[in-house]
Amino acid sequence: MTEVTVEAVESVGEQTVALALSTPDAFDAAPGQFVLVRKDADGDAGYYTISSPDVEGTFEITVGYPEGESAEESLGTWLADRAVGDTVDVEGPLGHVQYRGEGDVVVYAAGPGIGPAVGIAERAIDAGNAATVVYRGENPPHEARLAALREAGATVAVVDALDGEHLTGETANVYVFGFDEFVEEAKAVLEADGRDPSEAAIESFGPA
Ligand SMILES: Cc1cc2nc3c(=O)[nH]c(=O)nc-3n(C[C@H](O)[C@H](O)[C@H](O)COP(=O)(O)OP(=O)(O)OC[C@H]3O[C@@H](n4cnc5c(N)ncnc54)[C@H](O)[C@@H]3O)c2cc1C
Repeated sequence: MTEVTVEAVESVGEQTVALALSTPDAFDAAPGQFVLVRKDADGDAGYYTISSPDVEGTFEITVGYPEGESAEESLGTWLADRAVGDTVDVEGPLGHVQYRGEGDVVVYAAGPGIGPAVGIAERAIDAGNAATVVYRGENPPHEARLAALREAGATVAVVDALDGEHLTGETANVYVFGFDEFVEEAKAVLEADGRDPSEAAIESFGPA
């Protein structure tokens, strides 16, 4: 584990915060990969996905936390309570799903999965590629960054249920970020569109 410093904490939507953390030495990572975050050497730990377009100087995670649970009960609540200058332990980067600027992207996201969706779309736009973000749910977190993405030419859709409407471009890389139930919904949509879900870059955040 490596101790990193909290450089910024920002509420980015309902029950959701973004934490900027100091990037450890030799930490080569990209949005879509995740880290194990631990309160301290013996504390609770959970996985959080990189939601910044790069990890230069700092990297960001987007943390969903439940209503009415204390910092002892919920790691998400504990993280949301952090202040600038506090430290947390991280391990990683972990995972093979990542985006480093190669090609157009379509990203399906729900809940805190909007974090890596935004980071990947920003990196795609920076690299001169097309980006589509489809968020299932209401009031997605990271509204300001989603608005900036729209301004920059990305397609951002907020939908009640997924369908294949935004699966344009045969060559776009398809990413999916969210909890298990959402991942299953996304896989079904890919299959209905005649695609092989195993060719998509899918990171499940686990069961409810
Ligand atoms: C590979 C991987 C990557 C992950 N990346 C992230 C991430 O970037 N951001 C993140 O917030 N979590 C992420 N998770 C989930 C996170 O690790 C766990 O939810 C967390 O460790 C649980 O800790 P907690 O005590 O805060 O849980 P809880 O107190 O249960 O809170 C977890 C939060 O997730 C919400 N939640 C839990 N289950 C569901 C569900 N089925 N549908 C919708 N919302 C749900 C809750 O409402 C709450 O806001 C990831 C998990 C994995 C396996």
